[in-house]
Amino acid sequence: MSHPKTCQECLDLLTDYVDGELPSDLQGRLEEHFGDCQPCEDFVATYRATSSVCRKVLARTMPESVAARLRSFLRSEIEKDKASGG
Ligand SMILES: [Zn+2]
Repeated sequence: MSHPKTCQECLDLLTDYVDGELPSDLQGRLEEHFGDCQPCEDFVATYRATSSVCRKVLARTMPESVAARLRSFLRSEIEKDKASGG
């Protein structure tokens, strides 16, 4: 896999990142991006604040189609935020 550069690529890796399942070099790349990208940083903070139990329940009860829509919604919100904020 190439280095993640965009918010989309970073969000695709977010669950593995938060779960500590990424290789350390990739993890470092994500941290660089999050350090530079306020919307992503906010999203990571929110995601981390969600308890693992809650995430497990969500993962179990949320159909993939809903999860995919949630991801695309979050991405569009991040893109909007970037477009307005610079
Ligand atoms: Zn970002």
